[in-house]
Amino acid sequence: MGPVPKSKKKLSGWANFPAIEADVFEPQDAAGVGYVVKHTSSIIARGNGKSYGDASLSPVVLSTLGLNRILHFDPDKGLITCEAGVLLADILPVILSAGWFFHVTPGIKSITVGGAIASDVHGKNHPAKGCFSNWLISVELMIGDGSIVLCSRDENPDLFWQTCGGMGWTGVIISATFQLMRIQSSVMRQQTVHGANLEQLFAAFEENNDAGYAAAWIDTTAGLKNFGRGAVHFAEHDSAPSSLIWPETKTKNIRFFAPSWILNPLSIRAHNAIYFNKNKPGVKYVHMDDYFYPLDRITNWNRLYGRRGFVQYQFCIPEEKAFDGFKSVLEAIRKSADTPFLSVMKRHGERPPEAIHSFPIKGYSLALDFPRTRTILSLVEILDDIVWQFDGKIYLTKDACSNAKMGRVDPGSFGEPKFWSLLKGRIG
Ligand SMILES: Cc1cc2nc3c(=O)[nH]c(=O)nc-3n(C[C@H](O)[C@H](O)[C@H](O)COP(=O)(O)OP(=O)(O)OC[C@H]3O[C@@H](n4cnc5c(N)ncnc54)[C@H](O)[C@@H]3O)c2cc1C
Repeated sequence: MGPVPKSKKKLSGWANFPAIEADVFEPQDAAGVGYVVKHTSSIIARGNGKSYGDASLSPVVLSTLGLNRILHFDPDKGLITCEAGVLLADILPVILSAGWFFHVTPGIKSITVGGAIASDVHGKNHPAKGCFSNWLISVELMIGDGSIVLCSRDENPDLFWQTCGGMGWTGVIISATFQLMRIQSSVMRQQTVHGANLEQLFAAFEENNDAGYAAAWIDTTAGLKNFGRGAVHFAEHDSAPSSLIWPETKTKNIRFFAPSWILNPLSIRAHNAIYFNKNKPGVKYVHMDDYFYPLDRITNWNRLYGRRGFVQYQFCIPEEKAFDGFKSVLEAIRKSADTPFLSVMKRHGERPPEAIHSFPIKGYSLALDFPRTRTILSLVEILDDIVWQFDGKIYLTKDACSNAKMGRVDPGSFGEPKFWSLLKGRIG
């Protein structure tokens, strides 16, 4: 095996902050990954760079996008084995036409299987289905000496669980096998419920506890009697059989970075009023692509935040403290000069005790997208204090600037020092 292509690139996560210059290796197969791992002293694996912060940034980066082969698909059992750099978007057309979908999918399909495992991603159905690891059968992991270790619940179980949500610190995932879910229709029945304030929003989640999927949008600009109002979208897979062809979707592209002032408290308030009124209570039938991946319609929507980028702050607070925690967070935001453009609330269930690095804890999470202003870091400090006080934690794959303790993970306690990212250095 000869040297692997390497080039200097400007890299960032999806939020365009922070951005660094890195040496990027681009191996095309496991042997190439082995060459890079053996010939570098410090490296981090990078999938499609859709984590928001500094999780896949390091002075030396190993891109897995060349490992893009689906190795085996059993259409009877719904089992798929693929290399780590395969995108969920590339798997969808193959599995849907045979009547299968992911048990767990995040709100974006252009992420790699390796990224889904390393962040142990969750979807809008966490109480029922857990995280990606719940459906993961096995992983081939390249460790620091260049050897490949098969990890599953039975073989090398510690390494298996440390790799799920382990942010790439245990090694480079080469390939994985996971279980898919049977479906009959590509249509979702979606019901929207309004909560006129935060109490009603939480009540809507409680009352629809058995909904297959649930996620809410919160209007963080509303005050007084509308404080914490929002729209909750509940959904189920439609039971009537329908075409199972994954569509070729047309996307719009934001070609240039928008001026940073475009998203300001006034324009965000106006956007929120329009969103609330447009998303009226009622039932509608939508294609899975629109339900699960609405943001994928606009390529490079992150450029709307301008060159300075943005900060996504996603936290989870245990069930019994979630309402008070959310109230304190929303009050702190209203007192500050910063306003999030997007805010998504989800409910989470129990996690398997072995899934020690998974982000969700039984309770509620809120993801907030803030334009990166001069004052945002001070607000993050305040939010960290509140979330900590309510026994919460943040999602490391979104993080770029929180206090080191907030992920409730000790990077020094597992993995290999060789697999190093800016995130690991910042919180380790
Ligand atoms: C619009 C949008 C919506 C999202 N919605 C959700 C959501 O609903 N739920 C959710 O959980 N997440 C969500 N995310 C976050 C996203 O799913 C995760 O950050 C995911 O890990 C990104 O995968 P990636 O392939 O882009 O990996 P990268 O961003 O490149 O890397 C993410 C982490 O995985 C590690 N990694 C990647 N590949 C490997 C490998 N082969 N071996 C070892 N480590 C590896 C990296 O080192 C890094 O720590 C969303 C992101 C966006 C942009």
